[in-house]
Amino acid sequence: MSSEKMLQVENLTFEYIRRDEEGNVEGIKTAVDGVDLEVNKGEFISILGHNGSGKSTLAKHFNALLFPTEGTVWVDGLNTMDSQNIWDVRQGAGMVFQNPDNQIIGQVVEEDVGFGPENMGIPTEEIWERVEESLKAVGMYEYRKNSPNHLSGGQKQRVSIAGVIAMHPKCIIFDEPTAMLDPNGRKEVIRAARALNEVEGITIILITHYMEEVIYSDKVFVMDKGKITMQGTPREIFSQVDKLKELRLGVPQVTLLAHELQKRGLNIPNGILDRKELINAIKAYRY
Ligand code: ADP
Ligand code: MG
Repeated sequence: MSSEKMLQVENLTFEYIRRDEEGNVEGIKTAVDGVDLEVNKGEFISILGHNGSGKSTLAKHFNALLFPTEGTVWVDGLNTMDSQNIWDVRQGAGMVFQNPDNQIIGQVVEEDVGFGPENMGIPTEEIWERVEESLKAVGMYEYRKNSPNHLSGGQKQRVSIAGVIAMHPKCIIFDEPTAMLDPNGRKEVIRAARALNEVEGITIILITHYMEEVIYSDKVFVMDKGKITMQGTPREIFSQVDKLKELRLGVPQVTLLAHELQKRGLNIPNGILDRKELINAIKAYRY
């Protein structure tokens, strides 16, 4: 597999199999159904889709928490099915989950961030260097001596991100990291993710419900019933307001407003992504 690819997913199908006490199969749920996907190193990509569309199941294949029923997943060129690769895959692709309370285990912020590298057998001196750089990268260095219990949701989530960064991953998968946060916390976390991408060059996979969060991505994938039904740049995706509505997904508020104005006969372009673009489109409009 070529080395500029961070992730390569080929014809991935995953089935959850439910069994009774005797081990007989009671039911099969196909959660991911024939997915092909590629992510280049250094990209920021987003995955959208309503509840149950298979996003988390797909994401868990990216750091070998789940393995394909059919098809193949390569992470940085390593086939996740090869048991020799599991450690490298898990270390190379970190994961941040929804609930920061389940991810923080340390009594003190800096201690918590140090757990990952400690488990990797990193020498103590280097652990402290990594803890410092990771906390600085998410803007939480000044809280290093604090108890995580007293932090806000957004701050806790940034500490869990620092814990992942401290393991020096090439890629971070964020599975709805802002779902339990207030608008301020959401902004903090997305800002941190963008900085890791832009400054550190870490590949980012962001799974989210919030349309406003995906407009910074290089590429967006939309899932429905275990399949990828749309893919493109945010502008290409948000140009298709009606199709997104069919998939029970919204669009950013400005995009919707622009779409409504367009429907009422105003000649403005498709896929407006932010307020500034809408203002410029309206200014350029000739009556
Ligand atoms: P999403 O993250 O998009 O909400 P999931 O990947 O969590 O979707 O779930 C996809 C489908 O798989 C859903 O129908 C869900 O009910 C089912 N599913 C998820 N986890 C399990 C599990 N552990 N056992 C059985 N079915 C599951
Ligand atoms: Mg999920």
